[in-house]
Amino acid sequence: MRPRVKTAVIRGKRWVVLPWTDRRTCPTCEAPTTRQRAIRVPKGPPYTEERLGYLLHEIMHAGLWDIDEAAVTELAQDAAALARRLGWCQDEAGKKGA
Ligand SMILES: [Zn+2]
Repeated sequence: MRPRVKTAVIRGKRWVVLPWTDRRTCPTCEAPTTRQRAIRVPKGPPYTEERLGYLLHEIMHAGLWDIDEAAVTELAQDAAALARRLGWCQDEAGKKGA
């Protein structure tokens, strides 16, 4: 069963968690200074390395708003790749260990 996550607290601030489903756009995170801020992230399954990378990327924006895009992208991709190598991810078919 898919967990129903509606909010997330990141570094003491709360975001409304919305699903990112339109692959023609990018996941997004509104600035910590925004009222009623939202973070739009991919939800699984499948829990792929790519989706984990997007999730980590938006969490990093929320918590480290002043870090530039290139650094956030590189760190999120590195973390997702390590998670995949440790067996945390699935392939697009939902198969473990991809
Ligand atoms: Zn970004």
